[in-house]
Amino acid sequence: MRATLMYAAGDVRVETVPDATIIDSTDAVVRVTHACICGSDLWPYKTLKPSETGRRMGHEAIGVVDATGSDVHTVKAGDLVVMPFAFSDGTCIFCHEGLQTACLHGGFFGMDSGLGAQAEAVRVPYADGTLVALPVGKDDALMPSLLTLADVMGTGQHAALMAKVGPGKSVAVVGDGAVGLCGVIAARRLGAEQIIILGRHAERIALAREFGATDVVSERGDAAVERVRDLTGGYGAHSVLECVGLAESLETAINIARPGGAIGRVGVPQSGTMPAQQTFFKNLTIAGGPAPARAYIPELLPDILAGKIQPGRVFDRVVGLDEVPEGYRAMNNREALKVLITL
Ligand SMILES: [Zn+2]
Repeated sequence: MRATLMYAAGDVRVETVPDATIIDSTDAVVRVTHACICGSDLWPYKTLKPSETGRRMGHEAIGVVDATGSDVHTVKAGDLVVMPFAFSDGTCIFCHEGLQTACLHGGFFGMDSGLGAQAEAVRVPYADGTLVALPVGKDDALMPSLLTLADVMGTGQHAALMAKVGPGKSVAVVGDGAVGLCGVIAARRLGAEQIIILGRHAERIALAREFGATDVVSERGDAAVERVRDLTGGYGAHSVLECVGLAESLETAINIARPGGAIGRVGVPQSGTMPAQQTFFKNLTIAGGPAPARAYIPELLPDILAGKIQPGRVFDRVVGLDEVPEGYRAMNNREALKVLITL
């Protein structure tokens, strides 16, 4: 089969690899119909150290179950399924608590697991705990939105929940990438009264407004902090969604949160330390981490099927598998917001 491998920063290749097969009795093999490139794939694209073997890439997919192991009971061959970016057994203490990204037997696609979804097929460990069957056909117009359940919509939801978004709250979203935009959707869905998006890319800002952003802050650094304070009566936002992961974006998030506020952090940290003094004296709640996307699918899926939310609008480019290297280049140059891969 064909699969995407990254050999070093900037070096993405689509190559022929051994076919995905069932190894454990709890596995499924999924024939991928839709995958995508994630903002988090751009971190290794900028920094990955060269290796001979390469890293299998891709952690978001929709596909058709091709085969299942003897202990798989919730999905069967022929089912259309969505695959969250982490696999999880669905039975351990953390899965029961809804934190599947801490599963005792879990792991992440597109990382060190050797399993990647930017490929014709992928082996899915713990298929029962990981996959969710979709009640539509693979050519359904909702496919881009359904694909966001694999990561960015669930991650935006996680940021909003960790930041304690709720009715009447003021919310600030740091980052205008796909996760930040899905954070806007989540904040609106959870009843936020004011949603401030921090970003400067015209098309992304326009989409944020359509998703429910009420205010836009295009300044950076101290000027951005001032503007958010002005927009929130001088106090700062109740809830801040940190959707970037850089030291500067975390600092901005801390500065624009009001005393007693909460920050939901979902950008994978690239550097930096937590400013202990400031977060202490502002009584800030800082929460977040890898989103348990699997936990949020049952809640978000009906809203997508009903057309109440349209997170699939974050995709602004479609490529085939052989064009994936070009897709990485386009996203890295910010020519594309999020790239959909169709197979
Ligand atoms: Zn588990």
